[in-house]
Amino acid sequence: MSNGLPLVFDGHNDTVMQLVRGERSFFDKSETGHIDLPRAREGGLMGGFFAVYIIDPNVAEIMQKARDEGRDPSQALGEYAQQYADPANWPDPMPLDYAQTNALAMLGTLLKVAKESEGQVKIVRTAAEIEQCVADGTFAIELHFEGAEPLDTNGDALEVFYAAGLRSVGLTHSRRNIFTEGVPFAFPASPDTGAGLNEHGKELVRQLNRKKVMIDLSHITEQGFWDVAELTDAPLVATHSNAWNLSNSPRNLTDKMMDAIKESNGVAGLNFHVGFLREDGANDADTPISTMVEHVVYMADKMGVDHVALGSDYDGATMPAELKDAAGLPKLMQALADHGFDNDDLTKIAHGNWIRVLRDTWGE
Ligand SMILES: [Zn+2]
Repeated sequence: MSNGLPLVFDGHNDTVMQLVRGERSFFDKSETGHIDLPRAREGGLMGGFFAVYIIDPNVAEIMQKARDEGRDPSQALGEYAQQYADPANWPDPMPLDYAQTNALAMLGTLLKVAKESEGQVKIVRTAAEIEQCVADGTFAIELHFEGAEPLDTNGDALEVFYAAGLRSVGLTHSRRNIFTEGVPFAFPASPDTGAGLNEHGKELVRQLNRKKVMIDLSHITEQGFWDVAELTDAPLVATHSNAWNLSNSPRNLTDKMMDAIKESNGVAGLNFHVGFLREDGANDADTPISTMVEHVVYMADKMGVDHVALGSDYDGATMPAELKDAAGLPKLMQALADHGFDNDDLTKIAHGNWIRVLRDTWGE
């Protein structure tokens, strides 16, 4: 408990990208980034989905060149992202061996964090383990792929990564891979931007269903969303997406998509990225916490409070300055309480809905 508010299990962070580069330690309180163990403890964050996101090799090269020349790599990335706004400029899917090498480094980094934590951090593989972490205060890491690039088409790699603890897979990031297509970073735009699952993508959904691995629909095109909805036997999940009607980013969920999530007894996690919260889509940290509350209220009105959770995008996006980082979570929870969500509602949003959906998906 933090200020009497329920502990938060969060649907998305990109923290391992900073840990794998050795930029900071998970165990030391840092001034950079958004999540480390001290700030998580301070803010009542008890764990969440840790995304393994593989930077496209073309982008990695541009960022490294900027570092070598003493320039800001994120600015170089920004210039490249503008090209990415048009799917016509997207590179070919990255090589499998490149994706797997990078995935191993990131998963290894997270497994080492758990090992070196002396019991403070646990890799969770069942809903019961997450519940236990809520009860005893252990920090819970769920291993997630944001993009299926490290997976092959015949399911061998999935077996290996599953054995290592992988329990959820976002089919694509905002790009194209050998399974499906994501939405570009355009604004304003409908999520109906391109193709859905190809035959490999459909087969991947069946493989993930058989392994009871959770499928994440954030970043996928609207066509891909409906293709998965038709095929899957699990609840529909968007780990880090907001309400499209309030912020017309293709990364957000239309009312129809939210209806389908509700109907499947699934969940959507509130993304804290200002560009997916704001009506104007601007990447402007001067965005009040009340804007986050508006999305939660809209999503809860549309789907019911049982289908809304949190999916911060910490360490991968621009946070509202008022919130700042994981230590600021109580400000959001308090704002939701002040709006009228009672303790039962807050507990569902904070971690209860994630645990229910993961138990329904994982079967344990
Ligand atoms: Zn994302």
